[in-house]
Amino acid sequence: MENRAQDGARQDELATLVRGLAAELGRQADRGVVRVAAPPRASAPAPPPAPRQAPPASGPAPDAGGGADPARVAENRRLALETADLVGLKAVVAACRACALCETRTQTVFADGPDGGTGKTRVLFIGEAPGQNEDEQGVPFVGRAGQLLTDIIEKGMGLSRREVSIANVLKCRPPDNRDPTPAEKALCTPFLDRQIELIDPEVLIPLGLHATQHLLDSTESMGRLRGRVHMRGGRKVVPTYHPAFLLRSPSMKKECWKDIQLAMRELGLGRPK
Ligand code: SF4
Repeated sequence: MENRAQDGARQDELATLVRGLAAELGRQADRGVVRVAAPPRASAPAPPPAPRQAPPASGPAPDAGGGADPARVAENRRLALETADLVGLKAVVAACRACALCETRTQTVFADGPDGGTGKTRVLFIGEAPGQNEDEQGVPFVGRAGQLLTDIIEKGMGLSRREVSIANVLKCRPPDNRDPTPAEKALCTPFLDRQIELIDPEVLIPLGLHATQHLLDSTESMGRLRGRVHMRGGRKVVPTYHPAFLLRSPSMKKECWKDIQLAMRELGLGRPK
């Protein structure tokens, strides 16, 4: 009882001190001696968006970093949706100048697969963006990483490289192999979406974190996303590591092989003899 009474007295004393301090701070603030932070205003109106400059009628959009120009994204989507087949879509992509990557590319890199990447397949591998070799040759996944992907397809899955499709999220090479910006991905995604529709694969295999996160609209780690089957627009998605990563970390090849076996099960493919 005595302790409780003492606690009560201390709380009264503390409350008096706080009230006195607050009053003094208020007086000093009125005199400009101290600055008292204003509480956040929950109902403060949001600042109006900065006016967006209309892109030039031709030439690349000013899209480095940040958000893509919605009008250009809509235009790419319209062009993609109006294209009836993969041959036509490849031509639309080759003529695209929606982002600044058109200034530095040697050529667009549409796809590899039957008929130069314009045929239907049951599997579509999707990487992030073309690298230097791909930019020079116009074919995705060439060079050492491409050879490893070919080995995965041919020795691991028992398919020929011509029986699958291989593409990237971006169709043009980012300079110095930097990561694609969100704006570049937004502008190029209508082409990838249409490409997926027209190839009509049963299983998508995104290669590496960037392609996987982009396809699944996720920010989760590769470790959490791989090793299971996801769904995207009614299609199965089986993520695995990028071959370039496997070249740097050969011990992870066994994990990739588990992912590939999972994809093969989804496709009803037996292990090659
Ligand atoms: S990366 Fe895509 S959006 Fe940008 S210019 Fe190339 S094809 Fe067009």
